[in-house]
Amino acid sequence: MPPGAPTLSILMYHQIGRYPRPDAHRALFCHIDRFRSQLAYLDRAGFDVLSMDQAVDSLFGRRPLTRRSVVITVDDGYDDFREHAWPALQERGFPAMVYLVGSLIGQRSSWQTHRPDPAPLMTADAVRRLHREGCHFGSHTLSHPRLSHLPAAEQRREIADSKRQLEDLLGAEVAHFCYPYGDYTARSREFVAEAGYRSATTCIRGAGNLSEHPLELTRKAISYGDNLLGFAWKLHFKQARKGKGALADRVS
Ligand SMILES: [Zn+2]
Repeated sequence: MPPGAPTLSILMYHQIGRYPRPDAHRALFCHIDRFRSQLAYLDRAGFDVLSMDQAVDSLFGRRPLTRRSVVITVDDGYDDFREHAWPALQERGFPAMVYLVGSLIGQRSSWQTHRPDPAPLMTADAVRRLHREGCHFGSHTLSHPRLSHLPAAEQRREIADSKRQLEDLLGAEVAHFCYPYGDYTARSREFVAEAGYRSATTCIRGAGNLSEHPLELTRKAISYGDNLLGFAWKLHFKQARKGKGALADRVS
């Protein structure tokens, strides 16, 4: 991307709904009122909200960005997305990429062992309905493991089988992946490439347009405490962490 070209930020959300201020794990929650204000800001400030396909084409293909752009990514597939975030996105005609945990669809976020009450995840019916309505879905593995802790065969299964499983569920190609906890190794990345994904997102902080590889896209986490000023600051913050790879900035 030439110097001075418009920037692109890949925003990372988890749970979006009517939540009180959490004591911990604030990057995992966003109040729906703030989310709505953030979408209004993107509209007002003239951002293009791109699909992940459009973003990958822009960053690594032949479709240069014409305006400041964002991609909205939402990890884990919580049921609150269906209830709160998706209607807000639909009102503005904005796309979003939701990463699903294949074997836990319709269940709870049982990998979050720190929580006494793991959160409900969208059912298969809800996923299919939102897909018909234009929501985009990607894979976040089968069971939300730390990939770097798994033997190679297990990693490959988590990465490749989740793609096939979601493709069966949706009747459409699943081309995008997200590393749980932002945890991965060079081998994980090879398995993601081998499975045929076009992109993979990390939890490495930075502007999306400074990502060096489509299977290691940098993102910006939007936290519960981000007011509109904080949100805007993150959008305009361009620096990517250089030299930090697989093990940086782990979140859920
Ligand atoms: Zn996750």
